[in-house]
Amino acid sequence: MNQPLKILFLAAEATPYIKVGGLADVSGSLPKALRALGHDVRVAIPRHKQIDGARFGLKLANSPFPVPVGADSKLTEALDAAVDGTPAYFIWDEYYFGRDKVYGYDDDAQRFVFFGRAVLTFIKQIGWQPDVIHAHDWHTAFVPTWLATAGKADPFFAPIASVYTIHNVTYHGATGNTILRFGGLEGHVKHLDVEPPGAVNWMARGILHSDVVNAVSKRYAQEILTPEYSAGMDGLLKARNAEKRLCGIVNGVDYDVFDPATDPYLAQHFDAASLDARALNKAALQREVGLPIRDDVPVMGLISRLVDQKGFDILSAVLDRLFARDVQFVLLGTGDKSYEEAFGALPKRFPQKAAVFIKFDAALAQKIYGGSDLFLMPSRFEPCGLGQIIAMRYGSVPVVRATGGLADTVPDYDPTKGKGSGFTFNEYTSDALWAALERALDTFRDKKAWRGLQERGMKADWSWAASAKKYDELYRKAIEFHKNH
Ligand code: ADP
Repeated sequence: MNQPLKILFLAAEATPYIKVGGLADVSGSLPKALRALGHDVRVAIPRHKQIDGARFGLKLANSPFPVPVGADSKLTEALDAAVDGTPAYFIWDEYYFGRDKVYGYDDDAQRFVFFGRAVLTFIKQIGWQPDVIHAHDWHTAFVPTWLATAGKADPFFAPIASVYTIHNVTYHGATGNTILRFGGLEGHVKHLDVEPPGAVNWMARGILHSDVVNAVSKRYAQEILTPEYSAGMDGLLKARNAEKRLCGIVNGVDYDVFDPATDPYLAQHFDAASLDARALNKAALQREVGLPIRDDVPVMGLISRLVDQKGFDILSAVLDRLFARDVQFVLLGTGDKSYEEAFGALPKRFPQKAAVFIKFDAALAQKIYGGSDLFLMPSRFEPCGLGQIIAMRYGSVPVVRATGGLADTVPDYDPTKGKGSGFTFNEYTSDALWAALERALDTFRDKKAWRGLQERGMKADWSWAASAKKYDELYRKAIEFHKNH
């Protein structure tokens, strides 16, 4: 085997400690797969107030230490814990992280720059020098920026290579440029063309300053080179691509956690060889959400953040056609008020057909994956998407728009060849979505064809094994680039 590496993951959220979306799944489960390859991987996230310190055994990692902020410094704590053998560090500051939510504050940029600065200070203090820092999304882009500029002069930081993973290119962390003084970068970085006068764009900085950049699927890595998908970042990304520093690596899911044969939330365990038993989960789901308990009706599941990205406008436009059919629809999600209200009103209009839960509920999510027949993800764009992968693993057949990771992971059903594990459509229109839904609903009546779809989805391997090896290669490439440039 190649020389094991020391790798530090930086993210705003990570399972099992705190989760808002798929970012947490990745920063929680990829380290485990990399550790299985022999690497010393550690994770650092903010110690958000919502993290259950007692449950995870968080304890002080060292004595409080001063973190430079502007011309001042702030005494800060780091805690640590380990789940499944992966060490995790938590940066605690009451002012920045003692809040009710993980994101959504005017000073988010400052909060996460503080986090980055604190992590850097902490690892130097404990003397743990990673070979690679792997930063995820704009929240942690400060770190590769600092390493490539102000931090270069420090012999502790100079050898550390950086990898930057784009989970969603549309979130930029844009903020006023006084942040540069706050983060110790003033005089070290130049203004970028993509930044409006007086502003700093952290997504752009992460792309520019890291040794290598990747996106969370091959298709998305291509899409973000176009103005339609790049949210203004295509120029920078094309330049990185021309230097061979950009690639796509599809996310996996933790097959130990997401396993219908052992999932503690399911009424009935099953696998690809015992799919008949799955009917019990469908009935249990219907009972729990208050819909008629019937095996013959297709149950469509949807679990998602309720935001524009996820296709709720084209979905809204097909609802009348959908509910004219004999179907059931179970939605779990939170997000934009307008979608929460519009979809929250469905059960009143269609009490026998629609059940809607506006909340975050990990247990109910598993019951929907394990009990629904179809799983909807009509996304406008989808960097990778985990919902469709979990759905396939649980025998729920995805109906998805062929974009980003959805295109890479869901092969379209081909009845003549008996291939495919879902239903896909290309155009981002309600008619195209409806055509895919109609195909799915028609096929649902053909029990044998449906069973084939389920089995192929369940047998496909979207565990981390293959992608972790690709990250291994990417880290070595980053180290090479870092040495040679
Ligand atoms: P994104 O990261 O854009 O939110 P992904 O499909 O990559 O989308 O990941 C979403 C993850 O969050 C999935 O594991 C999904 O099951 C979970 N999830 C989303 N909303 C909820 C919710 N309201 N309750 C429970 N789990 C949810």
